[in-house]
Amino acid sequence: MRGGAWIRFGIGIGIGIGAGVGGRAAWGAVLGVYEGVVQDLIDELGRLPNIGPKSAQRIAFHLLQADPADVRRLAEVLLRVKETVRFCELCGNVASAQRCRICLDPRRDATVLCVVEEPKDVVAIERTREFRGRYHVLGGAISPIDGVGPDDLRIRELMTRLADGTVVELILATDPNLEGEATATYLARLVKPLAADGALRITRLASGLPVGGDLEYADEVTLGRAFEGRRSLDV
Ligand code: ZN
Repeated sequence: MRGGAWIRFGIGIGIGIGAGVGGRAAWGAVLGVYEGVVQDLIDELGRLPNIGPKSAQRIAFHLLQADPADVRRLAEVLLRVKETVRFCELCGNVASAQRCRICLDPRRDATVLCVVEEPKDVVAIERTREFRGRYHVLGGAISPIDGVGPDDLRIRELMTRLADGTVVELILATDPNLEGEATATYLARLVKPLAADGALRITRLASGLPVGGDLEYADEVTLGRAFEGRRSLDV
């Protein structure tokens, strides 16, 4: 129910207090409408990742009290980002054209391909300035609990990219947590036939990354070192 009762309780108190000032009928009319849309806002915010019911309430009430111009700007940028930003047809990174700027950059090494879960991981690795190859964004990690299987990720696209033999090193840079490890193991087994004749090296980032964590939260030095010390995967 996502804290709906709490909000209704809070508004109930508001009616009680407000009745003495503005009259019960006026408050009731305003709050009757208000309650629904506030709850809708809280429900929508609560659907965002890492936003629990309490955070959703806090953000909703912040927005209610915020300057209308600020809220309008937020609403406009939300719409604009969905209308203008898309995903690179080759690597799956965010892009403002059909292909992202990394795929379009001829100075990037096409023989080294780094597989990550999300576009935010590309940003994290780019910050280290250790990597001059290209990326492949899976769009998540294998997670049976969340109902995410291999077919839900951009694995078929990865196999297509590997087919022509241009890539000589495949770096599996999925998150150092349960899902990320499972995904790396799955991919390593899947591409093993390509690596059998030594034409493709499969590597995984070195330890030193916080286990159980997200790649994006690693500091630049740690992530940079993990890149330098990446090791071959035996599968
Ligand atoms: Zn791209």
